[in-house]
Amino acid sequence: MRKVAVLGATGSIGGSTLDVIARHPDRFRATVLTAHSNVAALADLCIRFRPELAVIADPALEGELSRRLSAAGVRCDVASGHDAVTQAVAGALCDTVVAAIVGAAGLDSTLAAARTGKRLLLANKESIVMAGPLLLEALAVGGGELIPVDSEHNAIFQCLPGGRPNLAASGVRRLILTASGGPFRGRSRAELASITPEQACKHPNWVMGRKISVDSATLMNKGLEVIEAHHLFGAAADRIDVLVHPQSLVHSMVEYVDGSVLAQLGNPDMRTAIAHALAWPARIEAGVAPLDLAACAPLAFEQPDLATFRCLALAFQALRAGGDATAILNAANEVAVEAFLAGALPFLGIADLVESVLTELPPQAVVDVQSLNERDRSARAAARRILRNAC
Ligand code: NAD
Ligand code: MG
Repeated sequence: MRKVAVLGATGSIGGSTLDVIARHPDRFRATVLTAHSNVAALADLCIRFRPELAVIADPALEGELSRRLSAAGVRCDVASGHDAVTQAVAGALCDTVVAAIVGAAGLDSTLAAARTGKRLLLANKESIVMAGPLLLEALAVGGGELIPVDSEHNAIFQCLPGGRPNLAASGVRRLILTASGGPFRGRSRAELASITPEQACKHPNWVMGRKISVDSATLMNKGLEVIEAHHLFGAAADRIDVLVHPQSLVHSMVEYVDGSVLAQLGNPDMRTAIAHALAWPARIEAGVAPLDLAACAPLAFEQPDLATFRCLALAFQALRAGGDATAILNAANEVAVEAFLAGALPFLGIADLVESVLTELPPQAVVDVQSLNERDRSARAAARRILRNAC
């Protein structure tokens, strides 16, 4: 029986995870559930899943969570605050951690899971983009295992010979990350100038949280995934290709030196990757409809348009720059996406802002979490200042 902490339980990945857990009460128990501020949704999940501990990151809401749970007769411990999430991960209540918080806010809990040797199901790509080397170090010290949940990386994990192999020794020539192209594939820059948050959040194939939806629309999501693949699989930037595949059925591919290309296919439903990562190396039912290839339109593939979707080019640039450039990229992007969603920055301004912050803060070596967090704060401050000055 795996005791699972679901961090970001009220989100899109959190919901899909709990759906898979509910299908297998003999294998998994959700022992820890956490959320940021949606206290009603967290209380409802506690009523349904009866965890040992519920954590609300916003301390002002702890009392309300306790009241709701006792009114419903749910007897579970309640805690609040950022550190309480990290402590819950490190404690004995769980052996498996689903890192599904969005953004850099998930870094500390992701690192805590790695350090304590738990099985880490990584959805929170921002933490590895920000602190890749530190996360790998924590994994090595803790001796636990990381199974990627991001569908592309889960696909690559499935197409590689097992674990985290040496790519060259395994005969791997390239990793090919597929991208849907987002809702604006094929559009020109002029057509993107007046995109609204609602349009950007309407993804053609996936239903996701708002931040990753915007990232998918700008192709920054693919850029973050290139960086994620670099760290997870030890692949140099020029060994990672991005291929636009609008149907989102081929989730990614691995090309070997003998000309073989292995791909993982499936319907676009995150429960496949989550079930794979929860049960690995076993296979379990995920509630996902079987893939009917005969009923699908011909599968299409095309090169990404890097001139229009500049965020993908900026992510490659930050990866090649090395040091903490990808942490700067991530912080600037989080501020830019927030501003776009608030109506304070045009869609095309996201790439401009990220580029300005990268120019202003040249890369430094990654030393430790404290200095990385400091750099994250500096990048956010720079982004906010540039935004203010532009208004
Ligand atoms: P979401 O917005 O639907 O959910 C985010 C969750 O994080 C919520 O439960 C929220 O309460 C919690 N949260 C937000 N800010 C927090 C904070 N400061 N402290 C503690 N908790 C906080 O997002 P999502 O779509 O589920 O994505 C979650 C992560 O998974 C992201 O990193 C995303 O890039 C990644 N991911 C998502 C998908 C997908 O299909 N949704 C696919 C691959 C990877
Ligand atoms: Mg993905």
